[in-house]
Amino acid sequence: MREKWKHIKAEFELADAGFLILRIVALIGGYGWLAFADIEPDVARRFHYILIYFILYCVLLYTLLFWLFHKKQVIYVFSLFLDISFLYLLIKNTGGFNSSYFVGFYLLTVLHSFYYGYIFGLFVATLCSVVYVISGNFEFELIHWTELSLRIAFLFLLSLPVGILSDRLRYDKEKIESLNKELLHSMEELKRLQSKLIKAEKLSALGKMTADVAHEIRNPLSVIGGFAKRLKKRLQPGTKEMEYAEIIVQEVMRLEKILRDVLSFSREARYHLRHYNINDLVLESLRYFQDILAERSIKVETELSDKLPEVLIDRDQLIQVFNNLISNAIDAMPEGGTITLSTRVDTEHNVNFVVVDVVDTGHGIPEDKIDRLFEPFFTTKEIGHGTGLGLSICKKIMEEHRGRIKVCSIVEKGTSFSLYFPYMPPEESFKTQCWEYMKCGVEKAEGAIERRCPAYPNYGRICWVIAGTYCEGRVQGAIAQKIGDCKKCEFYNRVVIKKDL
Ligand code: ADP
Ligand code: MG
Repeated sequence: MREKWKHIKAEFELADAGFLILRIVALIGGYGWLAFADIEPDVARRFHYILIYFILYCVLLYTLLFWLFHKKQVIYVFSLFLDISFLYLLIKNTGGFNSSYFVGFYLLTVLHSFYYGYIFGLFVATLCSVVYVISGNFEFELIHWTELSLRIAFLFLLSLPVGILSDRLRYDKEKIESLNKELLHSMEELKRLQSKLIKAEKLSALGKMTADVAHEIRNPLSVIGGFAKRLKKRLQPGTKEMEYAEIIVQEVMRLEKILRDVLSFSREARYHLRHYNINDLVLESLRYFQDILAERSIKVETELSDKLPEVLIDRDQLIQVFNNLISNAIDAMPEGGTITLSTRVDTEHNVNFVVVDVVDTGHGIPEDKIDRLFEPFFTTKEIGHGTGLGLSICKKIMEEHRGRIKVCSIVEKGTSFSLYFPYMPPEESFKTQCWEYMKCGVEKAEGAIERRCPAYPNYGRICWVIAGTYCEGRVQGAIAQKIGDCKKCEFYNRVVIKKDL
């Protein structure tokens, strides 16, 4: 019940109040007239019946409205016919054309024109005119024809401007509401971008600082490592001193690896892109882990596609990506398991990809951690065992290759990481390579120079431009930011709004 009141309060409009007041006034006026006017008892009795009819249907109407307030538009149409029938009875029984109750038709016409607009208003005016003539019993001798025409003409003259004004008001209201929604959406987007920017700034400051520190530590560390190795050569095997020297060498090697990770994460790497068959790089990476895999009783399976096209990549960076993924998979399977490396081709949004899957049967990743995996320094490993930079480096390298990295994991079952490298089949090489064409999709933007994007007819190519930046269900990244307002981008409209690509 309380909910109903709340809903009615929220939806109650000026016109609803108008309808209600009109009925209350009609009722008070009716009884007032009955009490004070000098009327014959026979007319008074009939009038009393009419008022009871009016009260009954008002009770019915407002009960309906209370329970079905969301259907009020339909209920008001239904009540219009009851109101008109009430007026008909009232006028017919109080003197026909001589009755003053014809003004009731004006109130009905104005309210309905205001509520439903001028078209419905004209309909109500016509209906009222017909009913008025009928309620006057066609006794045209009681009224001069000019007077009757004037009364009817005013019905139409009222319905038109009120209806047009209310249509305009409704249109403006809807426009304001949609603008409000858009504003809210933009503000949310702005907030999101702002927090992203703050995060990025913090990270870049942190990255720079860690890079400086790492750089400072690197030289003394290699000196320590060098001396420890020399010391080891001079010591007798099996002695305590030899054991200590070995620990120093191992720990220095571990620290050097951490420093390498930190530096490769924070440094702007130079990419040497060449065409490679990714299968070769996967096998090369695996070779590096052969001993450790055997030691941990981890089985290796490979499913390498022999129809893999070559892709444009930086070999060393890619080996680093595979190494990070394989070493994470090994860490996730302390009791042994299987690691599967497969390669395949795939198409998404008309973009061709070479895909590498690294799948393990390890402990998996809980859902609440999945979102944080690619955050720099996020690690669940003990201090000294993980820097939390491996996956951030992978993501960075993949983005530099205009590719993507996807993860899928089930706790206690295993994890799969998929690397997506976009490639262009040779038969399509005549098409514009969109990453070179930074302005595709903007030719329809406001204020843009009238210029057709050469990639426009091939949506695949346009997708490709955005492919690097189309992730997690939204268009983001360099291109979208360049365009400014994503909604003005043809690609955005087709992929994100209409989802037809
Ligand atoms: P690190 O390996 O130094 O911890 P990463 O960025 O490589 O840093 O990985 C971050 C975290 O992601 C890991 O600490 C681990 O919790 C989780 N993770 C990564 N790969 C896997 C995997 N294959 N299985 C389970 N968890 C994983
Ligand atoms: Mg790692």
